[in-house]
Amino acid sequence: MKIEEISLTQEKIPLKTPFITALREVKDVEFIRVKILCDNGAFAYGEAPATKAVTGETLESIKQNITQLQNLLIGHTPQEALSILHASGIGSSAKAALDMALLFLTAKMNNQNLDTYFGISDLGAIKTDITISLNAEQKMLLDAKKALREGKDILKVKLGSDIMHAVEVTKMLSRELPHAKLLIDANQAWSLKDSLYYLREVKQYTLELIEQPVVADDLEALKKITHASSVPILADEAVFTLDDVKRVVEDDYADMINIKLMKCGGVTKAIEILEYARDKNVVCMLGSMLEGPYSINAALYLAFAYRDVIRYVDLDSPLLYKELPTELDFNYEANTITFQPALR
Ligand SMILES: [Mg+2]
Repeated sequence: MKIEEISLTQEKIPLKTPFITALREVKDVEFIRVKILCDNGAFAYGEAPATKAVTGETLESIKQNITQLQNLLIGHTPQEALSILHASGIGSSAKAALDMALLFLTAKMNNQNLDTYFGISDLGAIKTDITISLNAEQKMLLDAKKALREGKDILKVKLGSDIMHAVEVTKMLSRELPHAKLLIDANQAWSLKDSLYYLREVKQYTLELIEQPVVADDLEALKKITHASSVPILADEAVFTLDDVKRVVEDDYADMINIKLMKCGGVTKAIEILEYARDKNVVCMLGSMLEGPYSINAALYLAFAYRDVIRYVDLDSPLLYKELPTELDFNYEANTITFQPALR
């Protein structure tokens, strides 16, 4: 089974409401879908969205990266192509799209369903958090209340650089929604001083975690916050690769890590990080960008397979789509995710 053709399309899925963080505002999820076709007729898809603010990649650069590499992959088996791919220097999201398609093909080559291929032994439902976009205080409270009414009880609260607003929103949500689990994500928007102020102001409330308060490359500030905080601090933009994760864990820069396929370069690399985390007892979040259904599938197989190390699942993109796409191998009911493979 050798790769015969690699083709690309640009896809767009409309969202119910705009998605707003400290870094961006979007109305659709847009991504590149890559199809890898083999000489025996087997094919598989991979996807990558552009998150320039995080990985530095645009839809154009993802397309260029894949196009640039495709001639090196054609004529090889999926296994050989994986080695070539991971030895290449292309962007991490472009890499992730090709990596997942190659793994899906490998499963097909072995006549394995994906749950078997990923070694999933427990198919019991898992829960994702749901994003509360950055908005005015009252709007965020309304959105959070609505989510809770719908049974979505784990809230990823996006906060921005206005630290007074951040404190107010946290206090308000904690008081008004005592049964919600609150995950705070500042997306690098705070200074060290802001972060310490925030910790003091909200210390009487119960928060699950605070994610990436300061800019990714200020690890010393992250460490100071981690040491000052009774709430666990989670590194997101500061950890892309296994080497980043090792540095953060070994030098105690943060308590937890957020793994995303688009940051680390795909499922193959995410598994290396998850194995390391399992070995070192590091609590993980498995997150995503706003992504399409095939890349969410890939992340969800991992979330099911590594449920012992992935305490937080941040894979709510499908809940934000106007409609659930048929390509998903999982069903979403409120924030509960069950395995329901698509008939393909
Ligand atoms: Mg984050």
